[in-house]
Formats: sequence, structure tokens, C-alpha cells
Amino acid sequence: MEYIFEEVIIKPSNAPKFILDGEEVDIWSDEMLRYHSRNIIDYVRENIYSYERRGEDPFAEIVGKESEKEMVKNALMSNSNILFKGRKGYGKTTFSKAMAKLLPEKLLAVKDCKIHDDPTHPTCFSCKRKLLEENVVELTWVPRKWIRIPGDPMMTTRQLIGGISIQKVREGYELDHPEVFTPGRVLKAHRGVAYFDELGAIPSALQTLLHELLEERQITTPEGDIIPMKIDTIFVASTNPANYKGVADIKEPLMDRVEEIPIGPPETLKEEIEIALRNMSLKEGAILPEWHMDILARTVRYARNRELKVSGQIELEPSCRATIKLFDHLRASATRRGHKAAMLSDYGNQYEVVKLGMRSRIGLEYDDGNEKDSVIENLVEEAINRTGSRIYTAIPKESFGVIMEEISTFDEIDVEKQNPEDMENVWKVILLLARRPEEVMSAFEILLESIRRCTGLIERISPGKYAYAGS
Ligand SMILES: [Zn+2]
Repeated sequence: MEYIFEEVIIKPSNAPKFILDGEEVDIWSDEMLRYHSRNIIDYVRENIYSYERRGEDPFAEIVGKESEKEMVKNALMSNSNILFKGRKGYGKTTFSKAMAKLLPEKLLAVKDCKIHDDPTHPTCFSCKRKLLEENVVELTWVPRKWIRIPGDPMMTTRQLIGGISIQKVREGYELDHPEVFTPGRVLKAHRGVAYFDELGAIPSALQTLLHELLEERQITTPEGDIIPMKIDTIFVASTNPANYKGVADIKEPLMDRVEEIPIGPPETLKEEIEIALRNMSLKEGAILPEWHMDILARTVRYARNRELKVSGQIELEPSCRATIKLFDHLRASATRRGHKAAMLSDYGNQYEVVKLGMRSRIGLEYDDGNEKDSVIENLVEEAINRTGSRIYTAIPKESFGVIMEEISTFDEIDVEKQNPEDMENVWKVILLLARRPEEVMSAFEILLESIRRCTGLIERISPGKYAYAGS
């Protein structure tokens, strides 16, 4: 049994007969030419370039992150390896998946090849032999590939790269027998995107092997013998700054072969809200009016930005997943209570709904056990104050007096029962706030709550029940 170490190039002159879906196919015809012979990075470059010419964003599914997108485009155009550095939940994985979308939807590959070899440029030994020696070779389509390689400190060479079992070869197995050649994660990413999630957690010895991959686009499988294989893949990795100085470090030679791109939290409140809306799991149910989205997203951002005294003790900041979950939880709570649009009462008496989505996602410097809950309560209070003052400011100055007069004619206002259309000026403000008829009740409530918080002229008797407190 002979290994073919040399590079094998198949041209029309030395090609076998190719069969695709049971029929003979000319892979060099105009319609097929697009799906083989080219390096993965060439497709990506061509695609980025055509997006740019059309003035379109190749990463439209990613909210904001304009400068990060610029860096990614540049790094890809110059065929560089990318390392995303940032905390969990800020979209590193989403970004790498978006990059995979720049590959063709499908590629032509040798049928049954474990690494989906290109029929004109095979890299595995089985395909090299097949393409050179056989008269007929079957082909197949493979969908675009995005392979996640989790950084596991216990990862073995076989899992990461794979190898040829010399033992099995000695026992007389054919080269293409499934037990002879086991492709690891890296080899599986051949002709696709290899996403190394937490690169630093991969054992140092294996990082040395990856170094060869980045340097020469080739990898040596040390299983038994040393067998180099050319791999065509786009290398994207991620690292969490928390691990940066830890034991699981990324080795320096590897750092010298990647371009580091920081991925931080969403820059604006608006982006935070947009990300949560796009990623919510509850797509149906009660409406989340914009003021409630505002309050929830602010709560998370206060915990993250440390602008408040109470957030100073937060050590582990909540990611966008916290915002996404808060949106889900509030919608779930409002829907369960039969509300058409979320109300303040849907947060729970002690903001349980917010605690549900935040407790596991923040860490405090000191915590006696109850500390977290009171921190979260303070954050929500601050967020409601901030959103409330925005709403209060939206009340036209000249009508504030008449609005208070209208409110004072009631002993008690139950926002779930009272028809606000009876109060002409209150109604006008509600119409400014509510974007849909279903939001009227929620708008009525947030208006009263905002006046209460900003002026003290209204008191809250119980959730959803207000009374005039002026004299
Ligand atoms: Zn192959």
C-alpha cells in the first residue's frame, strides 16, 4: 500500500469519468465550474467585493458593530486568520457564522470522502488514489460548512486533527476503510469555516499543531506516522478576556498568526433592543411596548456599564443573552396574565421576572446570598426612573396642568378598568405614546407611573392603581 504524498491536480486531460446523481457530468462546463478548483478564501473575497460594489453589508444580520465589520472584511480580503476577543454573548459565534454565508451554498466533492475533497485537488490519500487510478469517480454536493471546534483542555490530537491508523493499515485494511482514517474537527472543516471557540483552552501541544495549519495551510497528523495534508479552511477563533491571562493561554506563535478583533457589547440602547428582538425565543404573545423594552435593556446596560453606584459591585457583567431573556420573560409573564401588551405588574411584585433572567448572568464582588436580588431591584428601579423621565418630558408643557386636573377628578384610577378616552388631555398624550391600540392600557399606566416618579403628584395604591396626591 502506497501513500501518495505529492500534490495531485486533476485536469480534463487526466480526469476520470465523473458521475453526479447517477449521470455523467462535465465538471469544467460553465455551470459546474463555480463549484470546484477554487480556494475557499477566493469565494469569500469575491463575495465581499461584490457586496461592496453594490454598497451592501455582507453581515447585515449583525446589529451595529460597524468598525468590527470593517476589520473583518479587511482581514478576510487579505487572507488572514481572525481571533475575536470578547466576553460570551456579544456575538462572536454569530459573526463567524455570518462569514460562512459568504461561501457558496454548495460545493462539488468526491462522494464518500470524509473531508469532502475537491475532485480536482484532493487532499486525502483515498481520493488521491481514486482520482488517479480509477476510471469512474462518483461526485456529490456538500452544503456550506461551519465547523465549531470547542476549546476543550482534554482534547486529543485525534479529536482535533484526526489521523491514519497505521495499526489498521498493517492489519490489511484498505486506505479508505472507515477505521483507517479518522478525520478530526479540523479536517472536517476542510473547504469550510473552522471556528475555534475558546482557542486558549486547547492544550498547548495541540496549539503547536495549529500553528502549522495557519502557517502553511497544512497539518501533520502525528498518529503513528507523520502525514501532512493540505487543508483549505477559513480559520476563525474566539477568546474570552477572562481567560486571557489564565492558565489556558493562547501561545505566542499562534497570536503572531491571527488578527485580533475585539467584540464588545452593543454600543447603543437601540442596538441592544434590536439584538434582543431578533433573538427572542417567544415570537408570539403579548406586545412589548417600546417603554418596556427600554426599561429592560437599560437594566442590563446599567449592570454592565457601572455608571450607577449599585452596579459598582458587579464583577461579572450580563451579556446580550440577559436582555434577550428579559424580553422573553416579560412577554411570557404578560401573555400568561392575559395582557395584550406588557404592564408593570408583569414584572412581578419584587421584579421576579427580571431576577429570573439576571441572577445567573451577573456576579457580585461580595454576596451574602441576598445581595444580588437587591442589586437587581435597584437596577430596575433606576431603569424605570430613567425611562419614566423620558416619558414625562414628552408631555406637552402647556397641557400638564389640565392633565393633572383631569386625573384629580377620580378617587382612584385602575388602569385596567378606566377608559382613558374620558380624559381628553390624558388621552392625547396616550396617543403620542401608544403605537397600536393594544398598547393603550400599558401607555396609560406608564404615563401615570412617570408622573408619579417625576413629580410625586400621583401615588400608587397598588400595581396598576393610582390616585391624585396633590392638594
Ligand atoms: Zn478525500
